[in-house]
Amino acid sequence: MKTNLLGLDAAGLAGFFAELGEKPFRVRQVLRWVHQRRESDFTRMSDLAKGLRDKLAAQACVEAPRIVGDTLAEDGTRKWLLKVDGANAVEAVFIPEARRGTLCISSQAGCVLDCAFCSTGKQGFNRNLSTAEIIGQLWLASRLVESRISNVVMMGMGEPLLNLDNVIPALRLMLDDNAYGLSRRRVTVSTAGVIPGMDRLRDECPVALAVSLHAPTDALRDTLVPLNRRYPLRELLAACRRYLEKAPRDFITFEYVMLDGVNDGDVHARELAAIAREVRCKYNLIPFNPFPHSGFERSPDERIRRFASILQNAGVTVTTRKTRGDDIAAACGQLAGDVADRTRRSSRVVPVKEVHA
Ligand code: SAH
Repeated sequence: MKTNLLGLDAAGLAGFFAELGEKPFRVRQVLRWVHQRRESDFTRMSDLAKGLRDKLAAQACVEAPRIVGDTLAEDGTRKWLLKVDGANAVEAVFIPEARRGTLCISSQAGCVLDCAFCSTGKQGFNRNLSTAEIIGQLWLASRLVESRISNVVMMGMGEPLLNLDNVIPALRLMLDDNAYGLSRRRVTVSTAGVIPGMDRLRDECPVALAVSLHAPTDALRDTLVPLNRRYPLRELLAACRRYLEKAPRDFITFEYVMLDGVNDGDVHARELAAIAREVRCKYNLIPFNPFPHSGFERSPDERIRRFASILQNAGVTVTTRKTRGDDIAAACGQLAGDVADRTRRSSRVVPVKEVHA
């Protein structure tokens, strides 16, 4: 079977070239061809020796997921449905803004965490994406959008910290000057709070971190983010503080989905302000994006404004995420792709202890 070069970071490529008996400087050349010029045809890599081009053509390939859907929202947000195998497709979303272009990518086909308000969870879980499938989303989007992709957020389908073996090499490619050359502050990993993963990311490849908080107490968070039963708030906040020791930014972003009558009361805002005194953070309020049979409603705008002002008056930095691309179901929590569920989510509840299976 051919080796897909999209799946290899600089260290991986160095190993591959060593096996081929090639010189280490080829790594830099090939990274540039593959990721900067996005060339997949080895015969066109004109500064490589003919012998190497032939070897690569015989033993390697550059293969991204296949695009099976490409939808443009009224606000310019663009969503791709990407087939990763016979049974599964995942989604990636490009969000253009005045001064930046953000690509939101997926890390798994489905998700095991089953957060109450998220449609990806309702699809169940099939498998981890490979490094090639993760970086392939950036590779494809860079080919297809005219504006520059200045930021990448791992906020699509799946829990990136449950797939770190494949996510870390993908992050390294995003940061590599011979590949995408993004700064650590412009690459964000979002987690529901997988503590061992936070510690590993901190030690191996610290990038900006967003944590999906969604509730200020264990009692409420247990019901919204079932993972909280395994990694409760006290421990999560301690892990955030450890992460900050090595993080490229001096704050953690806490994401907080605004659910009408559930977690959007004044009392919750005051509790969040207390948390902000323990961990340097910014809050990002996300108006809930509805999907069929979710059982939740979005907090009214007026409620979100008041919630934000309570935090602000307590000296806490807070932003409210603009809803983008919701007319094409590309907004946060609406990415469902097409997942062949192996967990049979609809017929049983996945116990939290299976998370590391
Ligand atoms: N598993 C990771 C990555 C997903 S990021 C995580 O939990 O952080 C997607 C973000 O959108 C998370 O903060 C998630 O909680 C939030 N989200 C999920 N469903 C949503 C919905 N229906 N409306 C708004 N935000 C939602």
